[in-house]
Amino acid sequence: MKRVFIALGSNLGDRETHLDGAVKAISQLAGCRIVARSPIYETEPLGVVEQPPFLNAVIEIETAIPAETLLQQLLMIEKQHGRQRREKWGPRTLDLDILLFGDQMIRTETLTVPHPRMAERRFVLVPLADLVPELQVPGSKKTVAALLQECPDRSHVWRFNPRRITWPNSSPY
Ligand code: ATP
Ligand code: MG
Ligand code: MG
Repeated sequence: MKRVFIALGSNLGDRETHLDGAVKAISQLAGCRIVARSPIYETEPLGVVEQPPFLNAVIEIETAIPAETLLQQLLMIEKQHGRQRREKWGPRTLDLDILLFGDQMIRTETLTVPHPRMAERRFVLVPLADLVPELQVPGSKKTVAALLQECPDRSHVWRFNPRRITWPNSSPY
């Protein structure tokens, strides 16, 4: 069994429903158990900035599925949630990225783990640090908390109020 962390993101359609649906679909994969789920954050787009704000979260799972197979299953779940790939880093209904796969370091044509851009992204490090601040990231010799502290990214990452309340002025956008 491997301890695996997956980053979830959505900025099109009913963003929260896409994240909830993804967690449910992952929990139903054979040989997969959800261990923990971070709070949801509303985040400013990076790279392609002219697009709606994202919701981001991270989940921890325990799985017997090999990394490549898990990736293919995650890509299928993205598709089931209407994911279309048009523009690199463009808007999407659902993005599922493997951040960490146990202590494995993987570099194939289709999969790089640890996720190569995770240390540059507050929208990944903030929810990951909620779950495992003291975890050492393979290949970096640093903890998640240290990576977050050193992260040069200054973009906004706001705690999202799930469904219950909408504060008219709580969003920076
Ligand atoms: P980024 O990787 O910068 O977050 P993205 O998530 O928008 O960008 P996608 O279009 O979702 O990129 O994925 C493109 C390809 O990236 C996938 O088809 C997959 O083969 C590959 N990939 C490589 N490493 C990973 C990983 N750790 N998790 C998910 N996909 C990965
Ligand atoms: Mg991504
Ligand atoms: Mg992706």
